[in-house]
Amino acid sequence: MPDFQARREKLRRRLKKAGIEALLVTDTTNVTYLTGFTGDDSFLLVTRRDALLLSDFRFIEQLAEECPGLEVSIRKVGTEMHEAVGAALQACKLGSVGIEATSMTVDLLERLTQQAEGVEFVPTKQLVEQFREIKDRDEINAIRDAVQIAERAFAVIRAALCPEQTEKQIAHELENQIRRFGGDRCSFTPIVGVGSRGALPHAVLSDRQIGDSDFVLIDWGARASLYVSDLTRVLVTGKIPPKLEKIYDIVLRAQQAAIDAIRPGAVMQEVDAAARQVIEDAGHAKRFGHSLGHGIGLQVHESPRLAAGQQRTLKAGMVVTVEPGIYFPGWGGVRIEDDVLVTRAGHEVLSNVTRDFADCVLS
Ligand code: ZN
Ligand code: ZN
Repeated sequence: MPDFQARREKLRRRLKKAGIEALLVTDTTNVTYLTGFTGDDSFLLVTRRDALLLSDFRFIEQLAEECPGLEVSIRKVGTEMHEAVGAALQACKLGSVGIEATSMTVDLLERLTQQAEGVEFVPTKQLVEQFREIKDRDEINAIRDAVQIAERAFAVIRAALCPEQTEKQIAHELENQIRRFGGDRCSFTPIVGVGSRGALPHAVLSDRQIGDSDFVLIDWGARASLYVSDLTRVLVTGKIPPKLEKIYDIVLRAQQAAIDAIRPGAVMQEVDAAARQVIEDAGHAKRFGHSLGHGIGLQVHESPRLAAGQQRTLKAGMVVTVEPGIYFPGWGGVRIEDDVLVTRAGHEVLSNVTRDFADCVLS
């Protein structure tokens, strides 16, 4: 079990540095990260000495199970959350309280301001998220599991692909296999793009069938023990389109160039640029219209981002996706996505699904 106490202690030191007395954690994922509690509608108040989880009747048993020892306040029926928070703030005699600017709603802040007179609410950003960027050993192991489960599910799908299957059916089957192999569920609704639908980086599942084209793009991932994986492969299900082979080679080289650039101290935007350069040199700069990658952990899109403008550096313990793509509207697209751990020595690619073009050809 992760040391949640240590995580909260680290946060306290950070709050002290920022001159904030306490932090009201309203982001559900951050609450999970700091306590192990996986329910929702619950806030965590981290003060300089204590932590108090404000929740309601529905979660009493779950709280006892998931975060034994944590101080919990169950609000009475008829008491609204802002009233419970206001009372807690007053009981702790807090003068200033940090709030999470990206999850606190305007409505809740208005209510809290009315409820907790004299308390100053200080917007903060990325406080807990920045801790979440660096994964500890337990987290890395959980991500490894999520990768492995996703890969096993994919192997089953790949072996059983047939022309009659629709995008929706394949997505459904991925979910099924992920659960069968012990995962909680898909980490997001899989993208299954047959032929030209692969040109939509976030295609919505349709009834298009595998047999309607010669290739299919599948972007999928598993969630296991709360942590996620995120992978993309293209499979050739019909005759090999010569253009596909050419584009695939460019994307694969771009991905490898970026992976090679990953090490502690590497500037995030430069890793993005390493892939982008390969695609640009091949004359397709405009066809790679998204950033290279994102952090994965408790969420499928989290900090950091491998993108232009990101001048921070990579640190050991970060886990990022590397997913360059080239898309032609009306024809299709190629994206290759793997999950990469930044290690002290450089990097480790956590995913193992073969990327060789020859192995993507099923026919
Ligand atoms: Zn993906
Ligand atoms: Zn991704």
